[in-house]
Formats: sequence, C-alpha cells, structure tokens
Amino acid sequence: MLDRFGRSIDYMRVSITDRCNLRCRYCMPDGVELLPMRSILTYEEIREICAAAAELGIRKLKVTGGEPLVRLGCPDLIRTLKSVPGIEQVTLTTNGVLLGRYLPALVEAGLDAVNISLDTLDRERYAAITGRDELTSVLDSVDAALASPLRVKLNAVLQKGVNDDEWLSLAGLARDRALDVRFIEMMPIGLGKQIEGMANTLLREELLRRFPELEEDASVHGNGPAAYVRIPGWKGGVGFISAIHGRFCGECNRLRLTSQGGLKPCLCYGDVTDLMPLLRGETAGEERAALLRSALENAIWNKPKQHCFEELESITEKGRMARIGG
Ligand code: SAM
Ligand code: SF4
Repeated sequence: MLDRFGRSIDYMRVSITDRCNLRCRYCMPDGVELLPMRSILTYEEIREICAAAAELGIRKLKVTGGEPLVRLGCPDLIRTLKSVPGIEQVTLTTNGVLLGRYLPALVEAGLDAVNISLDTLDRERYAAITGRDELTSVLDSVDAALASPLRVKLNAVLQKGVNDDEWLSLAGLARDRALDVRFIEMMPIGLGKQIEGMANTLLREELLRRFPELEEDASVHGNGPAAYVRIPGWKGGVGFISAIHGRFCGECNRLRLTSQGGLKPCLCYGDVTDLMPLLRGETAGEERAALLRSALENAIWNKPKQHCFEELESITEKGRMARIGG
C-alpha cells in the first residue's frame, strides 16, 4: 500500500524478542531490564499480524530482535511466515553466534537470506564491543552461511576510536567471498546517541581513493536503503547504509513491528500503534481481522515524511535498538 507521500510500503521488520546473547555497548549493555515474556508477541500473534500486513501489500519480512535466534522455535516461525499468502521473502538479521547451529533448520524452513552483524575481526575487540568472546563462532557461522544456499550480507557499525581503523579489512571480506559488506552509520537511537560513529561519505571517498576503478552498483541487493559499489575483481559488493549522511527517507519502504506488538512506522519517533489490546481482547473472526487491517493501514498512511536524526532534541524514540528491533 502507498503512504500519504506516495511511498510503496512492502517491507516489514519483525522483532521477535528483546533478548540477546550479546551485550553490544551501543545497543544493549549489561544490566538492561528485560521484558516479561507475557508482554512479547506469541508466534501465532506474529503470524496473524503478518497475514494482515500481507493483505495490504507487505511482501518481504525481516525477522530480527534482540537476537532472534535466542528465541526457541525461530526456524518454525520462519517456515510459518513463508507460508503466509502474499509473503514472497523472509530474511533474518542475526549476530551470528547461534547461526551455525540453526542454519540447516533455517534453510530447510525456507529462509531466503541472512544478515550477520560483525563490527570487528579482532577477538579482544569483539569481546570489548559485544561483551562476549564469540568472534570465532560468528566467523564460523559466516563460513557456514556462505556454504549454504542463503544470500549473505555482513553489517558493520563503526565507532570512532574503537573499530574505525578496521573499515578496510572489514570491506576486504568481500574480496574473496560472495557476500556484501555494508557499513551502517551509527544512529542516535538508545545508546547510539552517546557514541560517535563514522560518516559513510568519508569511507566512500577513502575507498575510491584506494580503488579508483570502483564502480557504482545500482542493482537491487535487498530490501533496504543501502547504496552499493563494486570493485572489479572482488566477488562481493560494499554497501553503505547512511541514515545520517545520506537521507533515504524518500525511498523508505518499511514498517516495524516491535516484539511487544507495536507498529512503528519510523525509527526516529516514539509513536507506535499498540496492537496488544486488539490481539488479546475479545474481538474475534472477521471483525478482528478488519480491525487489524485498519490499524496497519493507519500506521502506513501516517508514516512520517522523514527522520530528524540531525536534531537530537526532536527524536522522540527513547527506547533501545534491541527492544525496538534493529
Ligand atoms: N541481534 C541482531 C544483530 O545484531 O544483527 C539483530 C538486532 S540488531 C539491533 C540489528 C542491527 O542493528 C545490528 O547490525 C546492530 O549493529 C545495529 N544497531 C544497533 N544499534 C544501532 C545504532 N544505534 N545505530 C546503528 N545501528 C545499530
Ligand atoms: Fe544484541 Fe544485536 Fe543489539 Fe548486539 S546489536 S546487543 S547482537 S541485539
């Protein structure tokens, strides 16, 4: 369906948990409070919302979190979502720690692609950034994913003075591997507000300086706002998701569903449509389905024109990324 600015909204990010087995310093550091399980959508509720969304033109779903693979039964959910009429693609964003273990079940369930978050290739640094010594398992998962039929992307968030010196080695993973490496600019959401990231404009310039033969790549690599470049001879591409230094709101095609059943049309603003009262209320059958569709229609229609990440005081989203669903 189109929103009131004429954007076609066909992609929904679905957060299935606020829990995580890592403690990334910009997302979910130690000591954060977790939601009680009863306030998290059940898989059946998620299916119901996705089915209603599909009736309105949502075609692609991204399962995320928190860490989606810490919730038991994630592959079963993916199988269920793949069977929802109208849904064409289901993909997963994961930190990769448990991916090796669940990969066969995910492939079997029909998963289309996986994004793995990886901010550093240094073991000690990885432990410092994520709070856990898990780099080896993540790298093993990347290899396993590459050997599977899944399309693979790596997501890296650079922090000034922490891992920004690794941008070239991270990008270099695409030299001999058929995967895309994407740099996501740090967004002023949750703890990201307090951490200085790296401007993708600088990375692009630096990449071009080192590889003057670099080519813009306008082909579609996925559902998101990444802009890609190709370096001749490299097997994979390098992408830039530049929420801060490359506003892409005009092409934004997404809606978010939080693990607590909130429909969230823009990351920047705290406004959510709480679906829980409807899902856990008395209304049933066609009336319930119609109310759900109508809530989704309203959320899509009223999607804000653009984010306001450049004016920190105007950002009304106060939650953490792990809870919203990054
Ligand atoms: N746990 C999974 C993972 O790490 O891929 C999925 C959820 S995580 C919130 C999704 C992505 O959001 C990760 O790549 C993470 O690095 C990114 N992220 C978290 N906080 C962010 C922020 N403030 N700005 C930009 N990206 C952020
Ligand atoms: Fe967990 Fe992903 Fe947040 Fe890291 S970025 S704490 S892996 S949800």
